[in-house]
Amino acid sequence: LVQLFRPLDMLGMVYRTIRQGLIDMAEMFRLLDTNVEVADKPGAPALVIRRPSVVFDNVMFGYEKDRTILHGLSFEVPAGRNYAVVGPSGAGKSTLARLLFRFYDPQDGRILIDGQDISEVTQSSLRAAIGIVPQDSVLFNDTIGYNIAYGREGATQEEVEAAARGAALMGLIDRLPQGFETEVGERGLKLSGGEKQRVAIARTLVKNPPILVLDEATSALDTRTEQDILATLHRVAEHRTSISIAHRLSTIADADRILVLHDGRLAESGSHAELLRRDGLYAEMWLRQAAEAEQLGEAAE
Ligand code: ADP
Ligand code: MG
Repeated sequence: LVQLFRPLDMLGMVYRTIRQGLIDMAEMFRLLDTNVEVADKPGAPALVIRRPSVVFDNVMFGYEKDRTILHGLSFEVPAGRNYAVVGPSGAGKSTLARLLFRFYDPQDGRILIDGQDISEVTQSSLRAAIGIVPQDSVLFNDTIGYNIAYGREGATQEEVEAAARGAALMGLIDRLPQGFETEVGERGLKLSGGEKQRVAIARTLVKNPPILVLDEATSALDTRTEQDILATLHRVAEHRTSISIAHRLSTIADADRILVLHDGRLAESGSHAELLRRDGLYAEMWLRQAAEAEQLGEAAE
């Protein structure tokens, strides 16, 4: 049996997991170095989750002193709900995800999970509670089984297989001569964007976190693969608290509530139907994307 478990550098995993926009390893380590201020308080307790709600309470944040990115952002995602965050590029959507994972601490305000300030609990317990599926997932030059099992130290082969099923990967794995022990990545089998994304979803299923963050998890995929993966993600999110960050609004129209971020502020929020009736920023984005989709459709004919 393949040796699935190796000593893992927890922090390394964290950085690889939310590497959204941070492709270069050197850049990651530079960030790691400059982020020494994010540290566990002495004697910090573990996060205890009973009802995994997420609250941003007047969160103010900027990467640099003189440039504020989030201007006192407040919202609540009740436990078990599926919320979406949309807004123009640069609005601060990924920043919100990074703060929730405590890559950075807010300059003002608080972030609470199940009523506990995330800066008061251990980072390991915080990060164990949140699963992130980023825009384009990174695989390790290792077996497909290892890549899935990486979601949680100590995962069993049964759990890895269940996760692969949940992420609709078994069709692929069954076709591989070495199954789960097939090497993938640069030195092994090249997987398509959609397949890599499914491996990342399987990894998250193994982790089985109460809170799920999808940061434009399907934006790099073609429409058909996207539909496939969206169906999988919907199933995964069903009994969890989830935040789906999306550029393409059609992928999140059925969210319990949509938060529209603009310039680091909450511009609007509501259901898809409510936001369309409101005829504001969301409605404008929706109409623009619908027109673009129609043009694309015509061009393809
Ligand atoms: P979105 O995900 O909504 O497109 P981001 O949260 O990634 O936006 O970025 C919000 C703003 O913060 C952008 O103006 C971006 O340039 C800036 N930004 C993002 N990451 C960093 C960083 N590591 N250092 C400095 N500025 C950053
Ligand atoms: Mg982003």
